[in-house]
Amino acid sequence: MPELPEVEVTRLGLLPLINGIVSSVDVRNHSLRWPVNPNLKKILNSQKLISLLRRGKYLLAQFSNGYLIIHLGMSGRISIVNEKKSLLKHDHIDICFNVNGNKKILRYNDTRRFGAMIWTDDNPSNHKLIATLGPEPLSDEFNADYLYEIVKRKKQPIKSTIMDSHSVVGVGNIYASESLFLASIRPQRRSQKIKKKEISILVDSIKMVIQKAIERGGSTLNDFFSVNGQSGYFQNEHNVYGRENESCNKCEGRIYQLRIAQRSSFYCKNCQV
Ligand SMILES: [Zn+2]
Repeated sequence: MPELPEVEVTRLGLLPLINGIVSSVDVRNHSLRWPVNPNLKKILNSQKLISLLRRGKYLLAQFSNGYLIIHLGMSGRISIVNEKKSLLKHDHIDICFNVNGNKKILRYNDTRRFGAMIWTDDNPSNHKLIATLGPEPLSDEFNADYLYEIVKRKKQPIKSTIMDSHSVVGVGNIYASESLFLASIRPQRRSQKIKKKEISILVDSIKMVIQKAIERGGSTLNDFFSVNGQSGYFQNEHNVYGRENESCNKCEGRIYQLRIAQRSSFYCKNCQV
């Protein structure tokens, strides 16, 4: 599943489309998670792409007349292709741009169709999918004071708290396990039992893990390819995720797995308390 780092890498890969003018739109399949606006072709025709922003895992493509909110769902993928590139199965949407005289196509492929492309002419921050999101992990707003205020009211495992997009966006399952390892906190620990000092280290660890993943082009296993067709980094760079029964990189102890909220969680009993 594309996580925040993959979405950010996708955003960076799409920046060459900025200032492009839409010349045509081809929606071959309207039934994504929510139906694609049937008038999208008419709405986007001749409009200029002004900016590409990201909020959590949502890409916000700003046009002269509104925003296209894009979510990659479970298996969505965006690439920039030229018109000679033949269509693949699950290539559902093409948005063609004229960028300084060159034709470039934004192509959306989604095997499982849990992704979304939603048009809004309102400020996207007000959209119901975005309005309730917590702060960005790499922003100053996400700091120890902020997270401590949240954890001290929560009885649930700390891993669930940091994976809740109302607390902070973009901490997916892999990043949660990896951040908790770096912060020496067991994933199952009750949120409100964690000391402020530990929360401060956890915040730094989350920022470090997300930043590193963005630099490496995202870390989702198997099926993610960034816009230029490069795959993300490999699973063997993880300290704990997916490494049950293997030895810890820090202490050589054994890595354990447990389920928290139906998600696999990995930790080292020696290094994490
Ligand atoms: Zn260890």
